Amino acid sequence: MKLNGLNFLGNARSGESKVTFQAVNPSTDENLPPLYFEATADEIDAAAVKADDAFQQYRLKSGVEKAVFLETIAEEIASLGDALIERCTSETALPSARITAERGRTIAQLKLFAELLREGSWVDARIDTAQPERQPLPKPDIRSMQKALGPVGVFGASNFPLAFSVAGGDTVSALAAGCSVVVKAHPSHPGTCEMVAEAVLEAIEKTKMPDGVFSMLHGTSNAVGMGIVTHPFIKAIGFTGSFRGGKAIFDAAAGRAEPIPVYAEMGSSNPVFVLKNSLFQNAESIAAGLANSVTLGTGQFCTNPGIVFVQRAAEAAYFQQALAEKISEVKMDAMLNSEIHRAFENGVSQLSANSDVEILFAGSAETVKPNRAGAQVFTAAGSVFLNDASLEKELFGPATLIVIVEDEAQFLNIARRLSGHLTATVFGTEPDLEENRQLISILEQKVGRLLINGFPTGVEVCHAMVHGGAFPATSDSRMTSVGTSAINRFTRPVCYQNFPDFLLPDELKDNNPLGIWRKIDGELRK
Ligand code: NAP
Repeated sequence: MKLNGLNFLGNARSGESKVTFQAVNPSTDENLPPLYFEATADEIDAAAVKADDAFQQYRLKSGVEKAVFLETIAEEIASLGDALIERCTSETALPSARITAERGRTIAQLKLFAELLREGSWVDARIDTAQPERQPLPKPDIRSMQKALGPVGVFGASNFPLAFSVAGGDTVSALAAGCSVVVKAHPSHPGTCEMVAEAVLEAIEKTKMPDGVFSMLHGTSNAVGMGIVTHPFIKAIGFTGSFRGGKAIFDAAAGRAEPIPVYAEMGSSNPVFVLKNSLFQNAESIAAGLANSVTLGTGQFCTNPGIVFVQRAAEAAYFQQALAEKISEVKMDAMLNSEIHRAFENGVSQLSANSDVEILFAGSAETVKPNRAGAQVFTAAGSVFLNDASLEKELFGPATLIVIVEDEAQFLNIARRLSGHLTATVFGTEPDLEENRQLISILEQKVGRLLINGFPTGVEVCHAMVHGGAFPATSDSRMTSVGTSAINRFTRPVCYQNFPDFLLPDELKDNNPLGIWRKIDGELRK
């Protein structure tokens, strides 16, 4: 496919700006053609206007029609073949095996949402039948279901160029809900974005979806993203990325004349708690697994285990040593881009300069090649952690901090003081877990996903997944950005009172033409 660097204003292509940029191969620091045209204010407006127009038609599409659309996007992405993998690896420095797996996950995600739409019960149809004879007042016929919110702005992250990008979780859940989408392409992988956008456009053409149901805008300046967030036709935002970016977008959306919801999935340090007996019995295998999890994808996973709490004991010292040793054996690729690399180096320098923090292992980066990071393992005492909030912040890259905790009381105290994260992991034997129910109960209040004896990197896309957590991991702890429940971010309930049957949506009609599960007078029935 020949890349042309243009913005997608619905089905039209446009490159009006004099401001252009290029993708950079982070492994070599070389620019990659073509030139990308930063979207102008007029182009942002045109995309939003088209999204609003398309929404009027797209919101009325049936579940089956939307399912066919999503399945066709999946087919079109698959048919991009190796060219997509090659462009994506050259823009991100992520290995082709990882990108191939991510493509599989992206395709599977589109198909899973298609299944959800075909089954149809996700709309949460509720019917309370009329009781005209009720005393002292008759009860009217009341029915409700979830309906699409409107055009959604989507921001993807640099570290998941397919699964959290143009046709990733936010886009697929918004399209499944019946919303049109305006994507802000990530400037770290614009060619990958363009190829996937072409696949979406092919699917729009093949399934005859309205022009404007999907747009995509390029830009390296925050102005493009902010133009989407503040456009009056945009009714919600799905964001995956840094805390800094997510919070700025959340604040801008809240400050609009009409505030809109922002579902920002941001950074996380994913605390891991290694309980006493588990440490005594499994120090080596936990260290080996953690070394792998911390360095996976050069540590650039939002679920990277960035803080590990272990109780002070001889085995803790052994565990530290084993982790440092295992991590020293891992070869690191280039980071995703020079900015992320710079931020990692700065974070490492700050931690290294902290006199209360000890360096257990400092991997040296291969300085002849650009954007290389050396893995790092730091350690600090529990009391230090409790008094220094900066130690809880995400250091995005291959680094972890082992916190040596004095006793169980300090474990609980630390857990109580933690802010929100995406995941928390507990390693424990059965007696450990039995004794530490309180710890688990506290962690339940902080994170979206709790793991026992496993590693948090790797997020399954399924119905029960929760990829969320309390602030600052997300801007709305009630939601998930992965799994089919992600659709709920882009809908709102609408209630129909005393409607004649012919005017009701099919989901709420008396004879249940779609055969979906519905709550009728409080009872779940088909
Ligand atoms: P990022 O720098 O925040 O960028 C994400 C997107 O937001 C980009 O398109 C960026 O465009 C835009 N953006 C950022 N700040 C903005 C602002 N102030 N105004 C308008 N637009 C703005 O994030 P990243 O570096 O790509 O991704 C790495 C981070 O994402 C890590 O912290 C990682 O943990 C997190 N992450 C979280 C999850 C999750 O599910 N929670 C998943 C993956 C990654 P510009 O280039 O124009 O700024």
